Amino acid sequence: MKHVLVLNSGSSSIKYQLVEATTGEASAVGLVERIGEAEGSLRHEGPGGRTERTQPIPDHTAGVQAVLDLFREVGPSLDELRPVAVGHRVVQGGDRFTAPTLVDDEVEAAIDALSPLAPLHNPPNVAGIRAARAAFPDLPHVAIFDTAFHSTLPPEAYTYAIDREVAREHGVRRYGFHGTSHAYVSRRAAALLGKEPEDVNVIVAHLGNGASITAVAGGRSVETSMGLTPLEGLVMGTRSGDIDPAVIFHLQRVAGMSTDDIDTLLNRRSGLLGLAGVNDLRDLHAAIEAGDDDAALALEVYCHRLRHYVGAYYAQLGRVDAVVFTAGVGENDDVVRLEALSGLERLGIVVDPERNAGRKKTETVISPDGAEVTVMVIPTNEELEIARQAVAVAEG
Ligand code: ADP
Repeated sequence: MKHVLVLNSGSSSIKYQLVEATTGEASAVGLVERIGEAEGSLRHEGPGGRTERTQPIPDHTAGVQAVLDLFREVGPSLDELRPVAVGHRVVQGGDRFTAPTLVDDEVEAAIDALSPLAPLHNPPNVAGIRAARAAFPDLPHVAIFDTAFHSTLPPEAYTYAIDREVAREHGVRRYGFHGTSHAYVSRRAAALLGKEPEDVNVIVAHLGNGASITAVAGGRSVETSMGLTPLEGLVMGTRSGDIDPAVIFHLQRVAGMSTDDIDTLLNRRSGLLGLAGVNDLRDLHAAIEAGDDDAALALEVYCHRLRHYVGAYYAQLGRVDAVVFTAGVGENDDVVRLEALSGLERLGIVVDPERNAGRKKTETVISPDGAEVTVMVIPTNEELEIARQAVAVAEG
C-alpha cells in the first residue's frame, strides 16, 4: 500500500486527500477553509465518518496542524498508514519545472520566485509546502505542476506574437494549466479506446469553475486554451476567457478603471457570473427555466466558445479519435455537452442524446456506436494523478 497525502493549498484554503496510489482509494478527504479570517472551518471525512468544526486558522501552518489533529482524533491514523510521500499541487512551474519535482529548499525558493507569473496561486502553494515540510520533515515532498503537461507545446503554439525581447525578458508565453487533469483524462481516453496514448489524438475539455481545453496528440499536449495565466480561452464561471486585449486599454481610458480593477473584473466578475449574475451552471439553468434572457445568452456564449475551440483543435490535430468532457460541468451538464458539439457532424463528431442524458459518475461513451469520433465523459481524478506522480518521484 502506498498512501500519499495530496495537498492543494489555495490563498484561503487547503484541500487534502490521503490517496492509495495503486487503487486510487481515498481513505480521507478534507477541506480547510477561510484561513486568515476570524473563524476558519474544517471538514474531514474518513472511515469514522464526517466531522465538521470551526476554529481560528490564522495561516497555512495552523491549517496543516489542524489537519494533523483531525487525522489523530478522527482517523485514519497516519502512524498506521504511513504515507510514503506528500504530493503538492503547484499551479505555475514556468520554463524550469516540466516534470514532478522533489522539493528541497532550493526548489521551494524557485517555486516562490515564479510568483510574479502566478501571483494568486504560487504564494499559497509555497505556504502549503512550507507548512507541510515542517509538519512531515521525514517524508519526501513532491511538487506536481499544473503547467508541466503542457511543456510539450510546440513553439508555434506557445509563442504570442509580441515583441520577442519583451516576451523573453518577462516570461510572456502560453504555459497552460489543469495539466494534471488533462494528462489523466487523455490517458484514460486512450485506455477506453483500447489503444496506447501514443496512438491516439484526443481533445479534452476540462470544464470546472475554471475551464480549459487541450489538444493531445499521441499523449503530448500540443495546444491548450489557457495562456500566461488561467484567464485566457473558454468562458468560465467568473473569468472572461478570450477578449480583445484592447478592451483593457479602453476601460482604463474611457471608464477610468485601474489595472487592479480590470484584473478583478476579468478574473472574478466576468464569465457566466458577469453575463448572468450566477457562476454555477445549475443556477444558470434554473434562471433560464425562469425565463431569464441574460442567462440564456450566457449559456449560448459558453457553448459557442467551446464549439469554436473544438473546431480549431480539430484543425490543429488533423485527425481526432476522441472528444472528452471532464470536471464539474463536463461530467454533470448534458445540455452543455450536447450544445457545444452540435453541428459538428461533418467532422464525425456526434452526441447520442440518450447516452448523453444525465450526470455521469463513471466513464461513459456518449457518441453512437460506430461514430468516427468517440465522444466520452471521463470523471477527472487529479488527486490520484498527483499521488501516482509523487510515488514515482519519491521512489526515484
Ligand atoms: P473547480 O474548478 O472549482 O475544481 P469543479 O470541477 O468542481 O470546479 O466544477 C464546479 C462546477 O461544476 C460548478 O461551478 C458548476 O457550474 C458545475 N456543476 C456541478 N454540479 C453540476 C450539475 N449537477 N449540473 C451542472 N453543472 C454542475
